Amino acid sequence: MGYSFKTFLKHTAKDFHNQSVNPPVVRASTIIFKSMQDIRKTQKKSIKDPTGGHYDYGRQGTSTTHTLSKILTKLEESYHVFLTPTGFGSVFLAIFSVVRPGDEIIVADPVYSPTRLLTKDYLKEFNIKTKFYNPHDLSTIKNNISKKTKLIFVECPGSNSFEFQDLSKIISIAKKNKIFTAIDNTWGTPYFLKPIKLGFDMSIVSATKYYSGHSDVMGGSLAVNKKVFKKVQLAEKITGLRMGPDDAYLVTRGLRTLDVRLDRHQLNAMKVASFLSKHKKIKLLYPFKKGSLNYNLWKKYYKGASGLMGLRIKSAKKNVIKFVNSLKLFGYGYSWGGFESLALHQEIREQGDRSYLNLSKDEHIVRLHIGLEDPKDLIEDLRRSLKFIK
Ligand SMILES: *Cc1c(COP(=O)(O)O)cnc(C)c1O
Repeated sequence: MGYSFKTFLKHTAKDFHNQSVNPPVVRASTIIFKSMQDIRKTQKKSIKDPTGGHYDYGRQGTSTTHTLSKILTKLEESYHVFLTPTGFGSVFLAIFSVVRPGDEIIVADPVYSPTRLLTKDYLKEFNIKTKFYNPHDLSTIKNNISKKTKLIFVECPGSNSFEFQDLSKIISIAKKNKIFTAIDNTWGTPYFLKPIKLGFDMSIVSATKYYSGHSDVMGGSLAVNKKVFKKVQLAEKITGLRMGPDDAYLVTRGLRTLDVRLDRHQLNAMKVASFLSKHKKIKLLYPFKKGSLNYNLWKKYYKGASGLMGLRIKSAKKNVIKFVNSLKLFGYGYSWGGFESLALHQEIREQGDRSYLNLSKDEHIVRLHIGLEDPKDLIEDLRRSLKFIK
């Protein structure tokens, strides 16, 4: 190829057959062949070359999903990328590919709350035990390992409390004990962090967020190395967790500008962080303050920072809610990664243990997604609303 990834994203997936800049949306359940021999030939090819896009039925995908998978495989520098209908589908697929009844798994305490619900409660019904680790104290991984431990599930940074973690150390603990590793890399995306290259077996990104970038489609990707490929392939086949071609098209279209958008999200977030860092009642949960533990761990592994940050605010809850409610340019709603700014007050005490945060009664966490608006306007909006934080 020889070009940088930025250039690749703009030039890939052209359709020379139809003479269109973008790939066609191929919708299919039945895939038709010229003869019975032709069907057999394709089936044999798909066994020999399982990542090559040889399909005999629509559930396996079409050229549209194959195109997206190939682009993401390149971005991830992985062996293969599986596509699921939502980001959470990729979380589910990663866990159910390698974990079986009787096994144990170790999960980051500040994990995305649906992931916590799945691992803490739902897996119990399959006789799978989950232990949680403190993201800043890896002895809590080591001390929880038993002969039954099958998987370490990392989310970096932690959901809503944004702890960066010593990823290479986690991988080396896992390798020493022959344990599989998965990471939820939705915050950084492989544009800023390439987990498979670092040594993780599986890496999840919610395509709903920065990949699509326009808040109008849901999807997930699960990048894998060669070691786990067959296990994930089997689980994918029997769960039927696959992204549809229309969604794959929209995610591919979003990816064209992933680099441009993320660079700008970062620039805007840094400007907002710089403004907020001067406020006495706010502690930034964002890799901003040079020399802090989070900054150092972020710097060690990441090429950049995205637009999602937390504010740890010391003030009465009613003031914090007033602050959020008076923001005019920030929408109130779930998800993030689109072009627009969002704000949410997080009921952090209901999301896992998080006792290591040592939150006092009058400390609250607000999550901001810094969008692509003019940062001057965002800062002005924040400045106006911060008058409620006393
Ligand atoms: C949003 C999100 C998910 C789930 O993605 P969906 O596409 O909404 O299912 C998983 N992990 C993290 C960290 C997320 O932010």
